[in-house]
Amino acid sequence: MRVLITGAAGFLGSHLADRFLAEGYGVVGVDNFVTGSSDNLAHLERDRRFRLIQHDIATPLSVDEALDGVLHFASPASPPDYLDLPIQTLQAGGFGACHTLDLALRHRARYLLASTSEVYGDPQVHPQTEDYWGHVNPVGPRGVYDEAKRYAEAMTMAYHRARGLDTGIVRIFNTYGPRMRPGDGRVVSNFIVQGLRGEPMTVYGDGSQTRSFCYVDDCVDGIFRLFESTRVDPVNIGNPEEVTVLELARRVMQQTDSSEAPVFLPLPVDDPGVRCPDISAARRCLDWSPQIGLREGLRRTVRYFSGLAAVANVRSRVLREAVS
Ligand code: NAD
Ligand code: UDP
Repeated sequence: MRVLITGAAGFLGSHLADRFLAEGYGVVGVDNFVTGSSDNLAHLERDRRFRLIQHDIATPLSVDEALDGVLHFASPASPPDYLDLPIQTLQAGGFGACHTLDLALRHRARYLLASTSEVYGDPQVHPQTEDYWGHVNPVGPRGVYDEAKRYAEAMTMAYHRARGLDTGIVRIFNTYGPRMRPGDGRVVSNFIVQGLRGEPMTVYGDGSQTRSFCYVDDCVDGIFRLFESTRVDPVNIGNPEEVTVLELARRVMQQTDSSEAPVFLPLPVDDPGVRCPDISAARRCLDWSPQIGLREGLRRTVRYFSGLAAVANVRSRVLREAVS
């Protein structure tokens, strides 16, 4: 059994590669390193069941090996990354979906699309169920990510309906853990780096917006179960433990022994006010629910970041930009 994972040098892609290898699969990774790092795959260098292809998935790809699965995870994913790379993001979601779907079709492989809670936009239904169609601004700055994923979902369903491809769609909610890039600009990595450096945490807006954070091992377990299932309709994978951003700052301050008061910066355009997954479908169809709560997940993630030499040199992107 062998799967191909695009975005394999990224945060989630590299953990997924580990999980598939642990389950006895061979893995072909694909990445162009636009936001990923070879460090995330260094431990697989000598594993003969793993092979990495450096390739931009916005252009077509063929591989010689037989494939049983294709998982399309390549895309900038942190808001500062996709706002810096708007066209590449639309291309990774749009062209990337078409090329990976074609590849899966040629290999008669199961296809899994990494979609996102961002397809719900700034939601008017809370918590978000899979049958909610969302509230997205297609021409706002975040539209490049949200609409790329919505297009990729539509294309995935079209390949399923018109070509009979075996497909699945995972709508991933905010996930965190080891191998996040310290400077990637997402809230968990920003707060942990800031806490460890004794800098103030940068809270956008008044910090009353909510998110629901899922530890990476739980997320990867849900994705793996979805891959091994026959489910076609989208499934939310996330941890319904919802907190405000200000509460997250308080928890990270505790775990990093930081006493600096947070600084408040402007809220990004179209930043969703609330976000929380309804995971009834994942519970029912995949017998999945998250096992690691925010306290334990943050403890593990802080431990990982404290061991990174890079953290000492990374001034979180937002503080850098705020002072420049
Ligand atoms: P990441 O930035 O760490 O990883 C993305 C990887 O894709 C990187 O290694 C990057 O170099 C690669 N990539 C980007 N464009 C590419 C291209 N055109 N060709 C080849 N490789 C390319 O992000 P992540 O958090 O690991 O996210 C992985 C996937 O999961 C993304 O599709 C993202 O939209 C989705 N997702 C993640 C989260 C989360 O909380 N982490 C939430 C929702 C959805
Ligand atoms: N955020 C924040 N400070 C930061 C980074 C992010 O207050 O340094 C906020 C951001 O405005 C959003 C939430 O934290 O409301 C989650 O942001 P993230 O970029 O991690 O992911 P999103 O859920 O927006 O995709």
